[in-house]
Amino acid sequence: MKGAARTPPKQATLVDTEALAAPGAKTRKEKAERKKKRAAAAEASRSEAKLLSIAPRTGPLSMPLKSLDKRLGPRLVSTLNKKGLRRLGDILFLLPRCYEDRRRLCTIAELEPGQRGVTVGVVRAADFVPGRGGKRMFRAVVADRSGSIAATYFNAGPWLKSRFTVGKRIVLSGEVRATMSGREMAHPELESAEDIESSSVHFNRIVPIYPGFERAEQRSFRDLAALVGEKYANALEDPLPADLRARMELMGLPDALRYIHFPPGEADLEALDTHQSDAHRRLAFDELFFLQLGMALKRQGVKAEEGISFDVSPARLDKARAALPFQLTDAQARVVQEIARDMARPEPMNRLVQGDVGSGKTAVAMISALIALQQGYQVAVMAPTEILAEQHERNFRKVMEPLGYRVGLLSAAGTAKSKRERRDAVARGDIHLAVGTHALIQEDVAFQRLGLVVIDEQHRFGVLQRHTLMSKGPKPDVLVMTATPIPRTLAMTLYGDLDLSVIDQLPPGRTPIATRVFNDKQRARVYESMAVELAKGHQAYVVYPLVEESEKLDLQDATQGVEKLRQVFPQARVGLLHGRMKGEEKDAVMEAFREKQLDLLVCTTVVEVGVDVPNASVMVVEHAERFGLSQLHQLRGRVGRGAAASYCFLIAGAARSWESTERLGVMERSSDGFVIAEKDLEIRGPGEFLGTRQSGLPELAVANLARDGDLLSMAQGEARRILTQDPALKAREHQGLVKALEERWEGRLALARVG
Ligand code: ADP
Ligand code: MG
Repeated sequence: MKGAARTPPKQATLVDTEALAAPGAKTRKEKAERKKKRAAAAEASRSEAKLLSIAPRTGPLSMPLKSLDKRLGPRLVSTLNKKGLRRLGDILFLLPRCYEDRRRLCTIAELEPGQRGVTVGVVRAADFVPGRGGKRMFRAVVADRSGSIAATYFNAGPWLKSRFTVGKRIVLSGEVRATMSGREMAHPELESAEDIESSSVHFNRIVPIYPGFERAEQRSFRDLAALVGEKYANALEDPLPADLRARMELMGLPDALRYIHFPPGEADLEALDTHQSDAHRRLAFDELFFLQLGMALKRQGVKAEEGISFDVSPARLDKARAALPFQLTDAQARVVQEIARDMARPEPMNRLVQGDVGSGKTAVAMISALIALQQGYQVAVMAPTEILAEQHERNFRKVMEPLGYRVGLLSAAGTAKSKRERRDAVARGDIHLAVGTHALIQEDVAFQRLGLVVIDEQHRFGVLQRHTLMSKGPKPDVLVMTATPIPRTLAMTLYGDLDLSVIDQLPPGRTPIATRVFNDKQRARVYESMAVELAKGHQAYVVYPLVEESEKLDLQDATQGVEKLRQVFPQARVGLLHGRMKGEEKDAVMEAFREKQLDLLVCTTVVEVGVDVPNASVMVVEHAERFGLSQLHQLRGRVGRGAAASYCFLIAGAARSWESTERLGVMERSSDGFVIAEKDLEIRGPGEFLGTRQSGLPELAVANLARDGDLLSMAQGEARRILTQDPALKAREHQGLVKALEERWEGRLALARVG
């Protein structure tokens, strides 16, 4: 390809210029992309640089910093304390955010404009000078035998002068640029180089740069890390058993920490900077492994409880299947088999079903429910919102009632009396299948004979919360359904305690939803297409993003949108659904839309549209760039539920960047929720992907869920393997594991069961 780009056919008469240009353009684009990716990775590892959560709580490294025989300057101590660094171990477990290559320092002549460089020189002159625009600027000239370079600072305080004592040797690090008056570094980072010959900590090596410390403090912290490393790293017990380390080819813990703080001369700088060196890998594995081990223990703990062993003879299963008006897809049939096998076992089921929007998860849940109902057990179905609970109730009722099972909704709405009555009906066993929000379980609703809990989850629960939910009463089987696909690595981290089933196929006869990205100015074309669909008697959604800072703004956007739509479509009945409406108001609007009393529904919130209206064929998303890809995919899944061809129009706001265009393009190209979720994770990172606050994700300092999928799989495999061999972790070589688990999960694991 490259060759072709360089030597175009000279006399070609029918040259396809585009084809010729393409390879070059691609390479350039690829290059730019690679560079961008690398920068993003470095940035990510930088901003994510945190104290490793795996610092030991016992042993010498748990001693306070005071116990060091070295006196620490008050400034450093204050910075250390502010960062929560109080114990010796905290020093070793603070990861450098990046590194500086001082194996061979550039001479000043070698510094190239446009590139970052590190050099050493002697301060020749330093003073405040008038800068551009009359602002005062600090300018120092630093020279070595090969030449000189200027260091410039705007808005600098007088203290800066003390750093640039004339005659003093300093290290300068920063981006070099060419100016009229020669080369200079603007706002370079600096460090004393007085001890350049004698110091093996600060020079002639790759040096770590730590997060949260000013440049001037780097040196002190580096000294401290060297001291602690030298004295205490060897005393560190490696919690990972030796044979596990050998199998996984992992460095020992002390070696890994030494490597990370003081990489050897031959280390790969880029691997270090992107936190992907062998030493980082060891620490990442460590983080993931103990997480997985904890979850594997939970999983084992659930399995150890006494559960219900359902009869899932083929005849019973067939009967349940026959209740649905369609043939299961192969993927659904496989997942039903997996569930049936679990339900037949005496230990409780704890299974997650993942599948794209519309892949038929609910249908699978219905069959599972029927297995339980057939044998006189009750079923609880929990949805994330009231509207979705109502929808589930309707759908389950349609299937269950003809078979003689009573379905009841336990909602927040209604009088206290009616609510009490319904609860009593559940307690008496008169309601066989109860649908509600998550409050269903939290509020101590007593069931007469609960056999199965179906949780329709929007990845809101972390492992720990989920277990609190499930720890009450007898142990029913549990089936968790995710509302939208999440990448495998996230599923393993959030749901590592569950067995995973994936429905990776859509029911037949679906026409893919035609998706197009438009900008603000192309809105007329969106309206044209909407008009065509409305004329056919179809309905449309128009969704506005939730502006978290200001519900008022949201509403303003949406209300204006409603006005505009009424002008453009005078015949259409337009409804508005927004976050500030009361539950009943929302329900009324939703009901009207479902009953075709509205043609257009403008919504400000995402959750409420998690509903099924088969006649809706158009989804318009305003300010689409503000949504995550997975959210968009979920929104898109609201149409295409009927037989008609459907459309999704993503309107990107005026401020859309190249990046958001690129991102939204994914929606045009793919209709596979798993592919989109992976991409979303890659672009936004796990915290954003899940919604930072409620993600339920553990803090990871080194491991990266968007990148370390393989390592995560291995960690899970190793964790489960160890527990299979030694379920109670009694073996002598596993005592390090027990100790580390106790420290890291801080009592949140019922380890008593293990001991
Ligand atoms: P999910 O819960 O995964 O979003 P649902 O179970 O709600 O999906 O199914 C989406 C739609 O597809 C429903 O209208 C359902 O009746 C229908 N459906 C599910 N499974 C099949 C199937 N095997 N064949 C035909 N239609 C199906
Ligand atoms: Mg569903």
